[in-house]
Amino acid sequence: MEIAVIAHDGMKADLVQFLNKHKSFLQSDEITLIATGTTGSKAENAGFKVTRMLSGPLGGDAQIAARVAEGKCNMVLFFKDPLAKHPHEADINMLIRVCDVHNVPLATNQATAELLIKAISQQS
Ligand code: PGA
Repeated sequence: MEIAVIAHDGMKADLVQFLNKHKSFLQSDEITLIATGTTGSKAENAGFKVTRMLSGPLGGDAQIAARVAEGKCNMVLFFKDPLAKHPHEADINMLIRVCDVHNVPLATNQATAELLIKAISQQS
């Protein structure tokens, strides 16, 4: 199962904490992690194996959306910062739309991400 993780700048520390909390599951053989560029670097620094796309503002969210559309990415955990402005708002909305089009689970905050991880880790 391929899971994409993305965090806006104000939420990156929260995402790394979340990844560490679920480290044993997220690093198991059944999970492949992908991420936008800077988020991926932070995850790598925390010891995670992750495939990095471009940085979000340079098209990383769009690359993840393409993988969702192609059926390659099965879940998106997006730690959005609702209080910040983003130059790539159009790409962010496109990713959300593509997840809805393809019925792919998408968390846009940590509480939902926790529920999704709980659900899939109990299934396995
Ligand atoms: P980043 O992109 O991980 O490269 O910072 C995230 C985003 O802003 O969508």
